[in-house]
Amino acid sequence: MSRVYNFSAGPAVLPESVLEEVAKEMMDYNNTGMSVMEMSHRSAAFQQIIDEAEKDLRELMNIPDNYKVLFLQGGASQQFAMIPMNLMKNKVADFIVTGQWAKKAYQEAQKYGQANKIASSEDKTFSYIPDCSDLPISPDADYVYICENNTIYGTKFKELPNTKGKDLVADVSSCFLSEPVDVSKYAIIYGGVQKNIGPAGMVIVIIREDLITDTPLPGTPTMLTYKTHADAGSLYNTPNAYCIYVCGKVFKWLKAMGGLEEMKRRNEEKAKILYDFLDSSKLFKGTVVAKDRSLMNVPFVTGDKDLDAKFVKEAAAEGLVNLKGHRTVGGMRASIYNAMPKEGVEKLVAFMKKFEEENA
Ligand SMILES: *Cc1c(COP(=O)(O)O)cnc(C)c1O
Repeated sequence: MSRVYNFSAGPAVLPESVLEEVAKEMMDYNNTGMSVMEMSHRSAAFQQIIDEAEKDLRELMNIPDNYKVLFLQGGASQQFAMIPMNLMKNKVADFIVTGQWAKKAYQEAQKYGQANKIASSEDKTFSYIPDCSDLPISPDADYVYICENNTIYGTKFKELPNTKGKDLVADVSSCFLSEPVDVSKYAIIYGGVQKNIGPAGMVIVIIREDLITDTPLPGTPTMLTYKTHADAGSLYNTPNAYCIYVCGKVFKWLKAMGGLEEMKRRNEEKAKILYDFLDSSKLFKGTVVAKDRSLMNVPFVTGDKDLDAKFVKEAAAEGLVNLKGHRTVGGMRASIYNAMPKEGVEKLVAFMKKFEEENA
């Protein structure tokens, strides 16, 4: 067996101990004589898996009792429609556009009502987070929307926007469980799990109970109504059962690691190794305003396309894979999620130093 250091933005690296555990349980989960993949989602064994996953997530994030946790399909992208369909009572929502994902959510919401772009960082290729202390929030806005960590551009809101009392909705796909958050500051906090938690194919939606109504916009499908899934404990139809199971294992791994305070410490330590090198390098440059840097996704460039391509190729030969930047940005991007060990980042920086010397 030979494992690489996988810097993919998603689907992404998972903790090795979790992979080993699920492999061990593949043929016979907990004396059921079958894999979780083969199990009825109505069975007692699966009910225990989903209940425990929710309980552990609630504990990790300190989720208040007046929030529901939903395990849904359709990825984060489906939420771009599901959120306006369920929340746009006044048919008005304000968007802070800090990257492709926020932009997609903003564009999708336009199908259902008036979506206002109240701030953007597109003027400088999304390389910073705009000042959100005093934005022109619409008086009748149903919510204010952000993408909290911008996977493609490598920026992160270090402070939540001042929504002037309006509900805040946040896509946290690429920073989910990377550090503690105060859930009570959000109306909805949601993310696709394939970035920082588990396998692809699921989104976790944490939603304040009063937003779960049986009056979404007319024509909203049953499957896209939050109440359908909230009332059924995420078991209205067959969920992505195997994904819930693996995510549950990752929640236990996070608890054993010391929880989100400890993950924050580790993530800061890992990111510092990389950013310190980028700040001192003569060849490589970070592309993001320093104060807005993400702990999870670190884009960088040499300034020369051919040299970038050479770096990505030679790094892969050293077992440092998926370092190519997003197709819309170019250059490189190292995603250093929770499950990326510190040694992976150290190896990357050592290779970057060597590459810099050889290509000076
Ligand atoms: C990857 C990503 C998405 C899209 O996720 P899907 O599950 O593929 O729909 C949305 N938002 C952010 C921040 C992402 O990183």
